[in-house]
Amino acid sequence: MTEFVNKQSATGDRSVAQGRSRRRIGAQLAVGLVAGSLVVGAAPQAGQAAPATVTAAAPAASAARQVQAAEAAALRVRTLEVAYSAAAKAKRKTVALTFDDGPSKYTPQVLDILKRNNVKATFCMLGNNVGPYQKTAKRIVREGHRLCNHSRNHPDFTDLSTSSARSQVVWTQKKIKSVTGRSPQVFRFPYGASNSRTRKVVRDQGLRILGWTVDTRDWSRPGTSVIVSRAVGNTRPGGVILMHDGGGNRSQTVAALDKTIKKLKAKGYTFVLA
Ligand SMILES: [Zn+2]
Repeated sequence: MTEFVNKQSATGDRSVAQGRSRRRIGAQLAVGLVAGSLVVGAAPQAGQAAPATVTAAAPAASAARQVQAAEAAALRVRTLEVAYSAAAKAKRKTVALTFDDGPSKYTPQVLDILKRNNVKATFCMLGNNVGPYQKTAKRIVREGHRLCNHSRNHPDFTDLSTSSARSQVVWTQKKIKSVTGRSPQVFRFPYGASNSRTRKVVRDQGLRILGWTVDTRDWSRPGTSVIVSRAVGNTRPGGVILMHDGGGNRSQTVAALDKTIKKLKAKGYTFVLA
């Protein structure tokens, strides 16, 4: 289990995954905020006003002016939405915590710390670890965290045949569903290593591919304070932090987690699901 983590950052595909991840997060944020401005902004008024002004049996010239006015109002609303979206996207400091390679005996400690801090995270599980840690897998769901499929036993997917890749994904989906009652909606490639063929395999199962933007390299056990400073120092708004709750001795990860959360909160970050 420890040998695979040493390849974690050795993949040339990682930056691709990161770039995609960043763009995706940006896009999600933009959609969310546009929707938000529709609720609180001027859109509902314009939506109501436009049909009302043109249904009256008014003279033709007057009706035309009203149509023009309604169109102008709609344009102003659209312009406002874009402005709100851009401003909020720039200001909103969100970050997502993700834990890979579990569940393991360290996972309950991670869950305790998340609970104390009222933070939800995403757990990228290995199918083979779910059977031995069923209680923990169920607890992850019960406490509101997000499930992520991380393959059955952590192969490099660029070495796999299409059918082997598919069975890694499908077996793990079934295992997680049978134990937790829930199917993951996201998948993270081991080592972040993928190619267009294996990405298609994953997407064909209806799964979204999850990357990361901050690699703490916690698996190399660099010391608790180094893990904290990497996580906090490298996070930007919309960031996705990669940590590990399985795959080896994760006591440093556990020890770093509380301080990482508190420092990010102090910097104004709110935690979201990846
Ligand atoms: Zn992994």
